[in-house]
Amino acid sequence: MKYISTRDKKIKLSSAQAIKQGLSVEGGLFIPETFPEIKKEDIVKMAKLSYPERAVYILKQFLTDFLVKEVRECATKAYAPEKFGGEAVAPLVRLNDSEYILELWHGPTCAFKDMALQILPHLLTTSMKKTGEDNTVVILVATSGDTGKAALEGFKDVEGTKIVVFYPSDGVSDIQKLQMITQEGKNVFVSGIKGNFDDAQTGVKTIFTDDEIKKDLKEKKYVLSSANSINWGRLVPQIVYYVSAYCEMVKNKEIENGDKINICVPTGNFGNILAAYYARKMGLPVNKLICASNMNKVLTDFINTGVYDRNREFFPSISPSMDILISSNLERLLFDLSGNDDKLIGKLMTELKEKGVYKLDKKMMKKVNEIFWAGFCDDYFTKECIYKTFDEYDYTIDTHTAVAVDVYNQYKNETGDNTKTVIASTASPFKFNGSVLSALGKDDEMQGKDDFALIDMLSEISGYEIPESLGKLKNADKRFKGICDKDKLFGAVEEFLS
Ligand SMILES: *Cc1c(COP(=O)(O)O)cnc(C)c1O
Repeated sequence: MKYISTRDKKIKLSSAQAIKQGLSVEGGLFIPETFPEIKKEDIVKMAKLSYPERAVYILKQFLTDFLVKEVRECATKAYAPEKFGGEAVAPLVRLNDSEYILELWHGPTCAFKDMALQILPHLLTTSMKKTGEDNTVVILVATSGDTGKAALEGFKDVEGTKIVVFYPSDGVSDIQKLQMITQEGKNVFVSGIKGNFDDAQTGVKTIFTDDEIKKDLKEKKYVLSSANSINWGRLVPQIVYYVSAYCEMVKNKEIENGDKINICVPTGNFGNILAAYYARKMGLPVNKLICASNMNKVLTDFINTGVYDRNREFFPSISPSMDILISSNLERLLFDLSGNDDKLIGKLMTELKEKGVYKLDKKMMKKVNEIFWAGFCDDYFTKECIYKTFDEYDYTIDTHTAVAVDVYNQYKNETGDNTKTVIASTASPFKFNGSVLSALGKDDEMQGKDDFALIDMLSEISGYEIPESLGKLKNADKRFKGICDKDKLFGAVEEFLS
């Protein structure tokens, strides 16, 4: 199977090359030329398998230049029970007749990013071997919180790699910051920057596109790569958990094999919901994909009007991992819906870059609306949803998951569709303990307490055990206290590498 670029489909690479390279030279994203099919018999077979084996079943059909043995090695290391708190890896929790919560946060950093970032380093190092790359890969990450920690945990002590993460020193939560500055591993480096997330992102991009820097690094036997969700190696592992959730429902006799389900996803960069779209495209019986946004509802407006317009006010919210106005992975959806029209995608993406806006024609919009339904939820209703879900089901959800649950209920009320729906739960409530406790009406008791006291409080109220990785932070050694100027990022990278 070859991979083509969304902006020039004459470019054709193997999966190993696509994963190593991340982004195509002309700025497009890599997509498989054809998609494997999921048939009824495949579900029967996969229902009997463990999560890592389901991952092998799906991934080997996309990574056709990998040996099955190599895919298995990657999946077994990544989804080991000790990393994901047990055999289930991504458990499905039934709330009622139609609502099923897919818990994607049992990995080492308590957010769904682990589902892809635990396996990406293995896919990348295997890809390096297969393409004869003998330089050390340096992964550069600018993070607004969750990706940085998940990437650090994934790449820690992985041979042939080093990882550097920059975060806005005043722009992440206390827990997120602690998670990063206490990171263990011999090949890791973390630094705050004096600036916001956009400054970090710009600084990293400048390093990526500077030919002098690249030449200098090459001489020292380093190559740069990226771990963000434009990399196919981060997207393909996410298809697995939707298929796996369907298998669980068949196995537990919640549905008959062949019955349709809906999937609802709290969305930011459009990576997670795109993986659900690909599962549907491959033949997984899916009716609607429900796209949930917070107040930064650029995607809700797009799906409802056909106009993508990023020229709007940015609202910092209590679901910060969805505070995004440019959803990069939408490009892959548009490429697919246009019948692989690379010229059109090039044109739309240029309009987005130059004017911040583009519009789809009626034919494309019809396709979008056949498949997607979109809604949004503000901070007030996010908190109300956390409260109601706890009250009704004795089940505690984080702020991102709450956005999805609220939007799902809007969908159900508006359409009357009772199809069983899988709702992606993207973070542990402990990661956003302040907002969750406040939603549960604990503002008074929270006064003057630090994050660890809040974690204890949430554990007591929810009845959930404190995730080991968060509990350990309290006494962890703060290894990376540095903060650099926003125009001195490369200096910090150089110092770390020398
Ligand atoms: C990254 C993230 C999202 C958004 O996922 P996308 O793939 O960017 O749409 C939602 N919730 C949490 C907790 C996240 O970390």
